[in-house]
Amino acid sequence: MSPCRQLARGLYDFVAAEMPPQLHDALRRHLEICPPCAELVRSYRLTIRLARTLPPVPLPPTCRARLQALLDAEAPVQGERRGLSPPPSPPG
Ligand SMILES: [Zn+2]
Repeated sequence: MSPCRQLARGLYDFVAAEMPPQLHDALRRHLEICPPCAELVRSYRLTIRLARTLPPVPLPPTCRARLQALLDAEAPVQGERRGLSPPPSPPG
């Protein structure tokens, strides 16, 4: 596998320094002689940095409903969440 391909495959691991040190060093040396890969890593790091500064985006209601349906199907909730539960009785 070419170093370029190796780097592209493990880009996250490389940027997060979570790949084996030997491989990490080899790819780091490769970056010094391969401008396209150096640019790829640079823009990837920038993307991660920018994404971390963004506020969390709330789920659109339709997505939330579909996700909830999926979660319910995955792990059915016993009892009160199945079907309609009676409204709480007013105090007094
Ligand atoms: Zn390269």
